[in-house]
Order: sequence, then C-alpha cells, then structure tokens
Amino acid sequence: MGRLDKKKRLIIERANRKMLGESEMDCPEATMKTDKGIDLNKKNKKKIAENNQYGLPTEEAKEKGQSCANCVAFDTSKRMKDCMKNQTGEVGYCWMHHFMCSGKKWCDTWVEGVPITSDDESYKKQEG
Ligand code: SF4
Repeated sequence: MGRLDKKKRLIIERANRKMLGESEMDCPEATMKTDKGIDLNKKNKKKIAENNQYGLPTEEAKEKGQSCANCVAFDTSKRMKDCMKNQTGEVGYCWMHHFMCSGKKWCDTWVEGVPITSDDESYKKQEG
C-alpha cells in the first residue's frame, strides 16, 4: 500500500473513531497494564539503560539543561497521560525508545525540540 493510501486510511479511521466516540488510536503497548505491556516497558527501559546511558543526566547534560522533559520524543499529551494512567506530567512516553520515562532522566539520544503535549501531535507521532 502506498504512503498516501496509508495516510488516507488513517485519516478515515480517525474520523470514524471520533464519530463513534472511541479513542482515536490504541495506546502504545508499553503503556498497557497487561503482562505483555509491562514486560515490554521493562525490556525497553533496560535496553536503553544499557546502550544509551538512560538514567540521571550526566554533568555535561545538566550543564546544557538536557532532560527527558525537554526532549522532542517526550509525550505528555492528555491521551498519553490517560494511557499511562499518570496525570502528573512527570512521566512521559518516549517515542524514540518506546517506554515510559521520567522527565528528570536523560539518555544520550536526547534531541532538542519541543516535547509533545497535544493529542494531535501524539497521534501524528504514532502514525509515523
Ligand atoms: S530519547 Fe529523549 S525522552 Fe527518550 S529517553 Fe532519551 S532523552 Fe528521554
């Protein structure tokens, strides 16, 4: 299926779901409180801790003011807070590594930009 067809299909699916009052898109698996979701979140977190220094920001990152909370991959939109069942805004979903991370943490693939706070941006990110 071509990219345009996929886009059209996604737009139609979203419109249909909205009309039916359903959530526009399923939550990412790693946010789900199922055995599979919990395992996936743990596995992805472990992988990034081992490969990308996920943890408290390094001294250099601190000096540069870098943290998950201001990384372009960090999603604290309303729909994602609902998915994560965490309304504090201190935890976000990382679209780069697919796990739930603390805004106070950091990893070496941090990217400057605007974190995701709107549902629309969040759905766009999920659509890829
Ligand atoms: S990519 Fe960004 S949001 Fe994800 S763990 Fe790294 S710093 Fe945090």
